[in-house]
Order: sequence, then C-alpha cells, then structure tokens
Amino acid sequence: MLYDIIIIGGGPAGLTAAIYARRAGKTVLVLEKDALGGQITWSPKVENYPAIPSISGLELGNLMAEQAMDQGAEVEIEEVVGIEDRGSVKRLRCAFGAEYEGKTVIIATGAKPRMLGLDREEELVGSGVGYCAVCDGAFFQGQPVAVNGGGNSALQDALLLSETCSRVYLIHRRDRFRGEEKLVEALRERENVEFVLNASVRELLGGDELSGIVVEQNGAQRSIAVSGLFVAIGHEPDNSAFADLITLDQSGYAEAGESCLTKTEGVFVAGDCRSKQVRQVATAAADGAVAALAACAWLDREA
Ligand code: NAP
Repeated sequence: MLYDIIIIGGGPAGLTAAIYARRAGKTVLVLEKDALGGQITWSPKVENYPAIPSISGLELGNLMAEQAMDQGAEVEIEEVVGIEDRGSVKRLRCAFGAEYEGKTVIIATGAKPRMLGLDREEELVGSGVGYCAVCDGAFFQGQPVAVNGGGNSALQDALLLSETCSRVYLIHRRDRFRGEEKLVEALRERENVEFVLNASVRELLGGDELSGIVVEQNGAQRSIAVSGLFVAIGHEPDNSAFADLITLDQSGYAEAGESCLTKTEGVFVAGDCRSKQVRQVATAAADGAVAALAACAWLDREA
C-alpha cells in the first residue's frame, strides 16, 4: 500500500501529526521502534500540559496513541533504518527487512537518553544502571539509589524514587538546578533525599551488579553505596539514518525552522529531533500539527 503520510516515531509529535493528518482525510502509518508515547512515558507526572492538571506520562502517551488509532491511523512496531527518495514515493527500509512506501514522510524520532560515558556503564545497564526511573524504580524498593542530572527529568526521578527507596542521592554538576524550582522545593522537604552538588560521577563500583559509585565533589572523591544509579542528563537525537535527506546541525538535530520543512520535497521533521530551543510535550505536539498540515498541503498540491 502507498500511504499518503508515513510518520516515523510514535511520541507526542508523531501522534499529533497522525491525528491531524487523519482528520484531513489522509492515509497514515506510524512506525515506532519501541512503545507508543515516546519519551514522555518515562515521566512520572506531567503537570504542564494544558487542560490536564496532572497525569502520568505513560497515561498521557497512551491517550494520544488511542486518539490517533481511533482516528484511523495504522501503527507498526518497526525501526526505520533508511529512506530512499524516489520523488513522489519514499521507500522506508526497516531493521528486520520490512519496507513501506509513502508519498510523504514525517520524521518525529525524538531523542534518546544521553549516557555518562563511564567505564562499564553499558555493561551495567539493567544491573543497577538505568535511564528510566518510572520503568525500573520499583526494583530498588527500600534500597539506596542515586540520580544524576539537574533538569526536570532528574528532579522528577528523584521525587519518584524517594517514595520507595531508603535514600536518594541527587548528584548534579553545578550548584543550581536547570529544572523547575517547585520540584527542587518538594525534594528539599524529603528527609531521605540528599543533594550532592558541584559533583560528577567518576566510577561505577561492583561486580555483576552495581554496588556503589565514586563521585568527585569540589575536587575530592567520595564513594557512595547505592544499588541503583539513574542517569538523567538529557537526551540526544538519533537522526543519522536520515542524514542524506535532511540537514543535521552539529549536535545531530534536524535543521528545520518552525515550518518543519526539510531540504527534501515531501519530507518533514517534527518534535524533539528538530533543532529548536524548547523541547516540551506542548512544543512537540505543536510541531506534529504543523508538519502534518504541511504534508497535507504538499499532497494536495501534488495531486
Ligand atoms: P535537561 O533539561 O537538558 O537537563 C539535563 C541535565 O543534565 C542538566 O542539569 C545538565 O546540567 C545535566 N547534564 C548534561 N550533560 C551532563 C553530563 N555529561 N554530565 C553530568 N550532567 C550533565 O534534560 P531533561 O531533564 O531530560 O529534560 C529535557 C526536556 O524535557 C526539558 O525541557 C524538560 O523541562 C522537559 N521535561 C519535562 C517534563 C514534564 O513536563 N513533566 C519532565 C521531564 C522533562 P547543566 O544544568 O549543568 O547543563
């Protein structure tokens, strides 16, 4: 089948694009490599999305996915590894050999968690080192854990973990947090949360399982016994598979203005994978709407 619009990525940007495109009467396929909802599903609480005072990221992501599918968007769990531009038809190649064809493509691949780059970090993923407190926090009930980062993700992770873990060390490389003051205040009130500021994780301790970390703070080294380390130091894009069709900036984000247009006719980008200042659910959803309407206008012009 030749779809009008194939959307790569099932996060808020991709799902909003799907809703708008379906409401414009276009055939839509969403290709998502993991789970629908995207990064937001890792947020324990979202309290800044208009009209929804408080909701878990997982629930918000599920609601968006349901809405897109109720509108008639098709969904496949596939990782797109390349796009061949045949002019009026784009052929998408997936990791396990499947191929899909669309008249237009919206790239809404979001971003993946940034790693610390420490020795044995990859080896200890799932054995103490994690990037998603919502997904893995429950494994550390009653145990001491650390969270590294100073943005909203780290603050929210620390809050969530402080509800079930014996102690939470919040390690941040500066003495000021990038995340919201309201979250910092809430953490200050938790007796089992300790701020470890001006500090960086230097070493992961333990054998097959993490047993502690070495932290460098103000020039001195300190060992902290923890069973879990949640790394929440931001995200980076994963756009390399599309580098021949879109221009990437120095950090790998897709260069496209607010119009979401790329240098390739019929290829659009939306959400966190795009070069932009503010990466929020609201701005991702906004991009999804813009990209979908741009794709619809392009299809109507070419028809
Ligand atoms: P972020 O805001 O970019 O924060 C990343 C944090 O990690 C910063 O504090 C940064 O330190 C630190 N960091 C970066 N690289 C590091 C390194 N190599 N070593 C140690 N620390 C490092 O990322 P985020 O918290 O994932 O949030 C991303 C976006 O999503 C933000 O706009 C955030 O507001 C939003 N968000 C929203 C919600 C929500 O609405 N519910 C939830 C989570 C996130 P510096 O401060 O020193 O640069």
